[in-house]
Amino acid sequence: MSGAVLLERERLTSGTTWHTAGLLWQLRPSDVEVELLAHTRRVVSRELEEETGLHTGWIQNGGLFIASNRQRLDEYKRLMSLGKAYGVESHVLSPAETKTLYPLMNVDDLYGTLYVPHDGTMDPAGTCSTLARAASARGAQVIENCPVTGIRVWTDDFGVRRVAGVETQHGSIQTPCVVNCAGVWASAVGQMAGVKVPLVAMHHAYVVTERIEGIQNMPNVRDHDASVYLRLQGDALSVGGYEANPIFWEEAVKSRTGAAGGLCLKTSTVKGCTVCSDDLRRA
Ligand SMILES: Cc1cc2nc3c(=O)[nH]c(=O)nc-3n(C[C@H](O)[C@H](O)[C@H](O)COP(=O)(O)OP(=O)(O)OC[C@H]3O[C@@H](n4cnc5c(N)ncnc54)[C@H](O)[C@@H]3O)c2cc1C
Repeated sequence: MSGAVLLERERLTSGTTWHTAGLLWQLRPSDVEVELLAHTRRVVSRELEEETGLHTGWIQNGGLFIASNRQRLDEYKRLMSLGKAYGVESHVLSPAETKTLYPLMNVDDLYGTLYVPHDGTMDPAGTCSTLARAASARGAQVIENCPVTGIRVWTDDFGVRRVAGVETQHGSIQTPCVVNCAGVWASAVGQMAGVKVPLVAMHHAYVVTERIEGIQNMPNVRDHDASVYLRLQGDALSVGGYEANPIFWEEAVKSRTGAAGGLCLKTSTVKGCTVCSDDLRRA
């Protein structure tokens, strides 16, 4: 870690991270993802706190995947087997068992659910500042309000382009290695070194409900067929979804309100709220 420098053009978390839902689901169809997520969970729920003495804000309320058809339930049974191989505890529940776990849920049209008790929610600010604290303690440097304005490259004798340094308004840093972690701006940073980053950003929205009696301590819910999630937020829910016809970044920035580099959009730009009807059916 010693010698590593993190350059942030504004403040830490000012990109996508500050308004992430922060949901961590450990079971995914790819075994690489399962391993990465299990590692992330260990770091966020235990190791960072042990190392820094700071709480990351991790909440372990569990995760519940909804199967509204037979094929989806079969997929969840396969995920449970995959989880067994990687030490991730999970349970396939019947509709009646799901109702016992989550009494507020409408289970009439369910085939079953997959319950992962050690899933949970990350707090973006807490996780980020604890990570920064741990990195600094190991010799890394975090420099905020310092945009990268250019990346110097040179071509070696074999025609391979290599990094020579990073330019900022406050000076340059000589380095043979740059990690591009600029999120939705990664394409712009990649271009500075002549690298095309295959990344397309699109608008994503969620709605926060008012207080719901009895929702406290319930697991987060993901319905893959309806493309929605319900995240526990204290005694309310934030409800988000992935639209079939999303708004792409170029279109989204035209209607930005200006907060956090244009990532906060007017609610009027949320198309037709196709997500909400599926969420309300479940509640
Ligand atoms: C509404 C919403 C809900 C989400 N829910 C979830 C979820 O439940 N679970 C999940 O896993 N993920 C979720 N995500 C996705 C998750 O938030 C992102 O994948 C994650 O925050 C990306 O982090 P990052 O550090 O890569 O990017 P960012 O947080 O965007 O950080 C990139 C940073 O680069 C900086 N930067 C840009 N250009 C430069 C430059 N030239 N020089 C220096 N710095 C620069 C920016 O200021 C920014 O701070 C959600 C996202 C949204 C929007």
